[in-house]
Amino acid sequence: MSTRPISRLGNPQLREPSVEIPAEKIGSTEVKNLVKLLFEHMAHYGGVGIAAAQIGINKKVFVYGFESNPRYPGQGPVAMTAMINPTIVEYSKQHIDMYEGCLSVRGLRGQVPRSEHITVEGFDEHGKAFSRKISGFEARVVQHEMDHLNGLVFVDRIKDLKTFGFSDELQKHLVVD
Ligand code: ZN
Repeated sequence: MSTRPISRLGNPQLREPSVEIPAEKIGSTEVKNLVKLLFEHMAHYGGVGIAAAQIGINKKVFVYGFESNPRYPGQGPVAMTAMINPTIVEYSKQHIDMYEGCLSVRGLRGQVPRSEHITVEGFDEHGKAFSRKISGFEARVVQHEMDHLNGLVFVDRIKDLKTFGFSDELQKHLVVD
């Protein structure tokens, strides 16, 4: 694989809404290859999730999942999952505040409220439609990756900018995970 760079905060590509995969291409080899490429990049950069937009591909596809991840030591495992043209159709009213990071904003974290439960609809890499209720950390990851498809980054959702800072600095002073 030729590794693509991660678009970092400041790169306008990160702010462009991604386009849907046309219906006839869902389940195609082309989309399966994109999913494979995303899993490879997620592993290479050590993320818990990655959206196509983060490697300069403006399409509504993201992947996530991990056995364990040093960036989120208290969490996991989450099954390796790909979502094509996903939509969050339901958000719980209960929110959880947690420190969140991003491969595009490496080294920085901030506290972001996310719905505790969501219902998400879309297609998997085989082209099969799904509707799933997701909760907890996985729901956070899906909301984070969904934001990338809409040109949003977690920093846009930090309620109190005083919680925004360098991970290693935050870790010295409080429990980040
Ligand atoms: Zn991100």
